This record gives sequence, C-alpha cells and structure tokens, in this order.
Amino acid sequence: MSDLTLSATIAEKLATLYQEMEHGYDRVAANIGLTCAGCPDNCCDSYFLHHTYLEWAYLWRGLQTLAPSALEAAIARARLCLAHYREAEEAEQWPSIMCPLNQDGLCVLYLHRPMICRCHGVPARLRRQDGRALHFPGCFRCQELTARPGRSASQAAAIVQVDRTPLLRRLARLEDEFLDDQRGLLPRLKMTLADMLVVGPLDA
Ligand code: SF4
Ligand code: SF4
Repeated sequence: MSDLTLSATIAEKLATLYQEMEHGYDRVAANIGLTCAGCPDNCCDSYFLHHTYLEWAYLWRGLQTLAPSALEAAIARARLCLAHYREAEEAEQWPSIMCPLNQDGLCVLYLHRPMICRCHGVPARLRRQDGRALHFPGCFRCQELTARPGRSASQAAAIVQVDRTPLLRRLARLEDEFLDDQRGLLPRLKMTLADMLVVGPLDA
C-alpha cells in the first residue's frame, strides 16, 4: 500500500500520548463518578472516522499480534460493517453496528485502540485551527451525572473537561514525523476502523 513503516520510536511516542489521554479521561470520569460498568449502552457501536495514517499503522501493529483466526474473524466482521455502512448511507440513516474489534462486549485490541475511543464519554473541549471552540457534553450517562439535581455550584464547577486541543496537536505533530517526506503527498485520510481492517496494513 505504501512504504510507510512505523518505527519503534514513533510507536512509543504514540503509546505515551495514548496513556496521557487515558489519564486525562480517568481524572475527569472519576470527578464525575462516570464508569462504563453496568451501562445499558455500548459506545463501540458508534460510527467514527479516523484521520491519521499513524493510528492506522499503530492499529495494525496491534492486529498483527492477534492469533490468525482472531484476525480473520475481525476482518470478516469489518466486511459486514462496511456492508452495513453502505446500506445505511443508501437509506440515509446513521450507521449503528458494533465495531469489528469488539467481541462479547470487550475490545480485543484495547492497547491499540484509536484516540477517539480514549476520549469519548467525558466532557471535552477543542479549539479548532480557525479559533472556534467546540464543546462535547459527554455521553448520555455522563450528562445524567453532571446534571444531577442537588449538585452544588462548587461541585458543578469542579467538573472539568478534557482539553483535546493539545492532545490532537501532539497527534498531528507525530503524524508529520511519521509521514516524513511523504507529508503532503498522500490523500487526506478519512477512514472507519473497518476500512483499515479490510484495506490491510499500510506497509503491506
Ligand atoms: S462512554 Fe458512556 S454511554 Fe458509552 S459505555 Fe461508557 S458510560 Fe455508557
Ligand atoms: S477499537 Fe475497541 S474500544 Fe474502539 S470502538 Fe472498537 S472495540 Fe470499541
């Protein structure tokens, strides 16, 4: 597909960034009292697009550690997802199908899951390059908790948000480092995780 190869150094930097995202998520979730345990929803059926070649390469770094049968099964589920996305698009409906990496309610590639899986759920803010600020209220369960009656003003003020801005900037810098001399030559990426599975590894 391309001659992009993920070096150990860049993979480590991304793993560190992912850990920091997780710590930020955990701090905010603990503040709110949010946990996914016992939730009637499973956000792994959300439709997400991913935009970095680096996360694609890193995802495949993880996929290649799976047993061949588990990898084949995940790719088969990814094909079903893509068929569902096409049908949903034709019917002008929002897609809703479980991520191909979710098996029996759990992520089979937890350490390699992309950034959005580490941010979704808690309140967050993001300042775009054009200066516009976006605010994300968190998942439905988070919104129920933050709107809880009887919460004092100081408790409400203590509910912080994850600031996605510096995290995304670091991811963008790492993407540039990864793309190196191919930066600007490759098309802008807009892929679902199912696409990444079906298309295969970047350096294949
Ligand atoms: S992020 Fe929120 S909605 Fe999603 S599984 Fe966790 S608690 Fe439930
Ligand atoms: S990669 Fe893992 S955490 Fe992310 S949506 Fe898929 S199963 Fe869920």
